[in-house]
Amino acid sequence: MVFDNDAILSRYAPMIEFETISKAHADAENLMPFQALYAYLQAAYPLVHRHLSCEVVQGASLLYRWRGDGSSPAHPVALLAHLDVVPAGELSLWKHPPFSLTREGGYVYGRGVFDNKCQLLAQMEAVEALLKDGWSPHCDVYLCYGHNEEVLSAASGARAIVELLKSRGVRLGLVIDEGGCITDGAALGIPLRIAVIGLAEKGSADFLLTARDEGGHSSQPGPGTAVGRIARAAVAIEQNPMPARLLRTVSKTLEAAAPYMGQGAAFALSHQKALRGPLKRLLGQKRATNAMIRTTTAVTMAQGAKAPNVLPESASITVNCRILPGDTVESVRRHLCAVAGDDIEVTLLAGCEPSPQSLQDETFDLVARLAGELAPDAVVIPYLMLAGSDARHYHDICEHVYRFAPYYVDQASLASVHSANERLPETGFDAAAEFYAKLLLSYGARPPGAPLP
Ligand SMILES: [Zn+2]
Repeated sequence: MVFDNDAILSRYAPMIEFETISKAHADAENLMPFQALYAYLQAAYPLVHRHLSCEVVQGASLLYRWRGDGSSPAHPVALLAHLDVVPAGELSLWKHPPFSLTREGGYVYGRGVFDNKCQLLAQMEAVEALLKDGWSPHCDVYLCYGHNEEVLSAASGARAIVELLKSRGVRLGLVIDEGGCITDGAALGIPLRIAVIGLAEKGSADFLLTARDEGGHSSQPGPGTAVGRIARAAVAIEQNPMPARLLRTVSKTLEAAAPYMGQGAAFALSHQKALRGPLKRLLGQKRATNAMIRTTTAVTMAQGAKAPNVLPESASITVNCRILPGDTVESVRRHLCAVAGDDIEVTLLAGCEPSPQSLQDETFDLVARLAGELAPDAVVIPYLMLAGSDARHYHDICEHVYRFAPYYVDQASLASVHSANERLPETGFDAAAEFYAKLLLSYGARPPGAPLP
């Protein structure tokens, strides 16, 4: 099976042109670009749409099923991507129009080129190529494309797909979604490329904390105002972080990284049990590693009176929390209540729980082996994803939910996600399609214990 990078990019360009911006409360008009994208997929990938069934879920999410021939006892495999993108933001910051694919200086630019249409593209290419070769899967293959990953919506397409599969008694043996990728190891102090595969993800919650007061004219204030009390609560939250914990997933990250880090780090990481206290202090010092070992509680917004000469009747702050597996939305609420004090009201605005941790067994090894083949010079590292993805819903029906996009993404391109000039290197689309094709060929293709093809 040979994949042609330029031909793949020519089929990619139209996908970027559909302005599939998700809204928490979508109406028919919002869903039109999604329907247009679906129509394009039908035209561009005729074999996929002839041989796979496709259901439209929640108005615009897509659930494809490729029936296996039943020769493998393995549970079905699901490849995930999301169809939606975040808005372009400030247009003057873009070098090129955001909703068109532009090639320049070794990169492709456009909203969604990395987050997350590159996975949709490579999966479609892989399945179309396998069908062209006359191959058919041994067990069922699902392609699951949510349409509102980027917003917190009660009508989550991914959630609805999971509920649908559940209602049909489907348990999945492997789920692959966005999250990790191949990148430079510098952020972890590793002088090589790394292929990071997410085993779990943090939860998140927004809390509104409010102090109430009598109010009145500011010419006759009391000893303090609601703003002063809510400010003290903000300081208390910052001075009382939630406790640090070393998750199994994070230990695995450190173990995998240790041989490539400096001697001191390698020693501490290889004696994790004995050096737990100092290690947690060390990890707590840097933003990136601190976020791996505790639930973070960032005070992000504040509000007081509407005018300078008014004593506020209430003052509030918003606290955005990223929840470590093991904590819950409720345990974080209790922490905030205890730290802020009795006279502060704590209200949950929105939240989702952290995911369970996926198994790291032979199914993980298969994904790790293929990631290693994709980037032979990279160290494969399992990790805890700090952001959220549709993958979190799938733990309900799968113990092997991994987050890995089969692309090399340099640090500057990683930083372009959700901002202006989103980009990806223009090479590697062929290798990404090959990754998914190999995954489908390998997964479930053998009796248990037999060597991989
Ligand atoms: Zn995404």
